[in-house]
Amino acid sequence: MSSLTIRTYPDPVLKGECAPVETVTDEVRRLLDDMAETMYLNNGIGLAAPQVGERARLIVVDVERGEEGDTLLKLVNPRIIEKQGETKSEEGCLSCPDLLIEVNRFESVTVEALSPDGKETTIEAAGLLAICLQHEIDHLDGVLLVDRLSSLRRTLYQKKRVKEDAKPADTGDESRRTDTTL
Ligand code: ZN
Repeated sequence: MSSLTIRTYPDPVLKGECAPVETVTDEVRRLLDDMAETMYLNNGIGLAAPQVGERARLIVVDVERGEEGDTLLKLVNPRIIEKQGETKSEEGCLSCPDLLIEVNRFESVTVEALSPDGKETTIEAAGLLAICLQHEIDHLDGVLLVDRLSSLRRTLYQKKRVKEDAKPADTGDESRRTDTTL
C-alpha cells in the first residue's frame, strides 16, 4: 500500500460527476487500499476517489478509525436507495482545509454498493456512519462543503486557499481538526 496526495479545493478534479466502475479489477482494489491508507494517515474517517485525483465512484469509510476491529468499508459505485429523518452535522473535509460547516443530513440511509470482491452489498447506516456515507457520495457527484457556503463566504474562502497554497505546508497544527473530517 502507498499513501496518495490529497487534492484540495479549488482543484478541478473535485468537480463534476465521477464515472461508475464497470469491473472491479485488481487495479480498483489496489486504489481502494491506497485510499484507506491515505485516509488513516490524514486522520480522516472517510475518503472519496476524486480526493486523490481519481474520477471513479469509489469510497472508503471507517468511523472507528481502525480502532475497534475491522470497521473499514471499501465501496464501489455506492448509491443511497433509502433515506429517513433529518439531522445536522458539523463537518470538515480533507479537501477543504480550515473549513467547518453545519450541514443538513438524513439521519439514516440505506446504501447499495459493490464490495471489493465485486459482490452486491447493502449497508443500513445511522448516526455518524450515515453522515459519512452521505458526505463521501456527495464527493462522487462533485459536491463539496464549499458549495454549501454563500457566494460571498465561498469567495473569501477561495482567496484564503490561494494564499495558503503559496505557503509551505503546515503539518503541525492539530487544533484546526475536527472529529468529523471526511
Ligand atoms: Zn470530504
